[in-house]
Amino acid sequence: MNQELPDMKNDKQNDDSHNMSIMMKWMSRMLPSCEEVSALTSEAMDETLPFRKRLSLKLHLKMCVWCRRNATQLQLMSRLARLKAQKVASHAKLSSDARDRITQALKQSGDQS
Ligand SMILES: [Zn+2]
Repeated sequence: MNQELPDMKNDKQNDDSHNMSIMMKWMSRMLPSCEEVSALTSEAMDETLPFRKRLSLKLHLKMCVWCRRNATQLQLMSRLARLKAQKVASHAKLSSDARDRITQALKQSGDQS
């Protein structure tokens, strides 16, 4: 009478969760950690990453909302920094006359003391 159906069902569930954990292990081995992704994100802004790194970075960013936010912020900050640097550079060109006057003033104050 006892057909042990519930046990068989449990075995099946155990199989599924076992397969699941193998897949998770495989995924975590394939994909970089959040820490690595953070480094890769800033690397990717300075240079073109090799295909494998680029792919794993993309996959991780697809799944991880935190790294996606971090990447967006990093990109925004680097764009702002570049704009700021351009602005400073253009100001430096314009103010060569002012720089001369400052140098002159500094020399004079140095002479006085
Ligand atoms: Zn992440």
